[in-house]
Amino acid sequence: MVKTVQRDLDILEVIIIKINKYFNNFLHINTVINDLDSLLTQLTTIDEKWKLEFRTLWSNMEIAYALTLDQGLETFDNQRKKITEKSLFDLKKMTEVKIKELKEQLSSEEKDELAKPIPEIQEKANDLGANWLMCPLCQEAWESHSKYGMVRCPNCNHKLHNPKYQA
Ligand SMILES: [Zn+2]
Repeated sequence: MVKTVQRDLDILEVIIIKINKYFNNFLHINTVINDLDSLLTQLTTIDEKWKLEFRTLWSNMEIAYALTLDQGLETFDNQRKKITEKSLFDLKKMTEVKIKELKEQLSSEEKDELAKPIPEIQEKANDLGANWLMCPLCQEAWESHSKYGMVRCPNCNHKLHNPKYQA
């Protein structure tokens, strides 16, 4: 569960990057339209209502682009440029709100899962000092400021006892 929400979060971050690239003139609108369309279909935990709203905004811009192509124009006229920029701006805004929401959801799920030591688990992360821990299972080292009972190895995803746990 946690992993899937994390994956959706990553996809939403990519959506923001694509939109920013359009505004910085690094991406053609055609590429933005195609990329956003395919990114949207990859989201698995986000509700349909949000996706529908996203697609509605997205379609305004797709129509503006289709009309432009249809008329054999190379670039948007001013009105279509405005429609497109407004759509992208709104898409960016709603994506940012969703990112914030998912991050809160993730951290509360992590808290529920990791707050207390889990007696069934034997393995304990190694304390490397200076807030670095190492996973005894895969030798991954990472920086951690957690005081929860358990930590999760970012490489193998196993839960481990936290040497920094403060009961
Ligand atoms: Zn590991």
